[in-house]
Amino acid sequence: MNGRTVLVTGGTGGIGTAIVRHLARLGHRVATSFRDPAKADAWGAAMTEEDLDVHIFQGDVSDLHSCEAMAREIETRLGPVEILVNNAGITRDAALHKMGHQQWLDVVNTNLNACFNVTRPVIEGMRRRQWGRIVQISSINGQKGQYGQANYAAAKAGMHGFTMSLAQENAKFGITVNTVSPGYVATDMVMAVPEEVREKIVAQIPMGRLGKPEEIAHAVAFLVGEDAAWITGANLAINGGQDMGW
Ligand code: NDP
Repeated sequence: MNGRTVLVTGGTGGIGTAIVRHLARLGHRVATSFRDPAKADAWGAAMTEEDLDVHIFQGDVSDLHSCEAMAREIETRLGPVEILVNNAGITRDAALHKMGHQQWLDVVNTNLNACFNVTRPVIEGMRRRQWGRIVQISSINGQKGQYGQANYAAAKAGMHGFTMSLAQENAKFGITVNTVSPGYVATDMVMAVPEEVREKIVAQIPMGRLGKPEEIAHAVAFLVGEDAAWITGANLAINGGQDMGW
């Protein structure tokens, strides 16, 4: 497979970078969004050094108008988005009785409402062209809940509801829609957790280690490939065995 136009949101982050790199190495033109220009410039320069066909676009996934403008710019510069990975995400942890309204809104806007904001501007084009791939990056904690993460777990669980509905609406247009639910992966998001808490998390993982961003990227690449055309509405849990619910 080669030569598709891809948008990976949050591509400058830990998992996002691995997804961008993997899809670009497969021969795709990969766009990603950024908010922080200084971080994005340094990141873009590193990708160019690796000789990857990667492009950065300003875009706040929590803002519909920003996403509409970003989709238009990507289409002008690279062509219409054919593969979309809704990966950008944040945490703002607190037990609900201590959680501020803004913490709730920020997390729901950036993880869940972003799926609407980013997907809505590109879905009609995918339907017209009769081909598309959409993957939501959810989380193990959307499946099982987590102390201190009512906002994040609710948003991440909602992402899979979005996946299943979109999968039904778009199957006959050659579009597959799936969710990948990573467990704890060694990125800045997880390394920011205090070490003693991280050790307790690792102790709950049968594989005995955190995941690698490349292991998530590999699964995404599989799901967006031509050969995965009959996989839709699925949730692929990748968590070292920490949660085996089905
Ligand atoms: P990082 O914190 O490393 O990266 C997050 C990325 O999202 C950054 O590129 C960031 O850009 C971007 N981003 C955040 N808010 C916005 C916004 N409003 N608009 C545009 N971009 C935004 O996270 P990870 O790589 O660890 O996580 C990636 C995804 O995987 C997330 O959805 C996360 O919830 C999920 N996940 C991660 C797990 C883990 O263990 N790491 C486990 C399970 C799920 P910027 O820096 O410019 O804000």
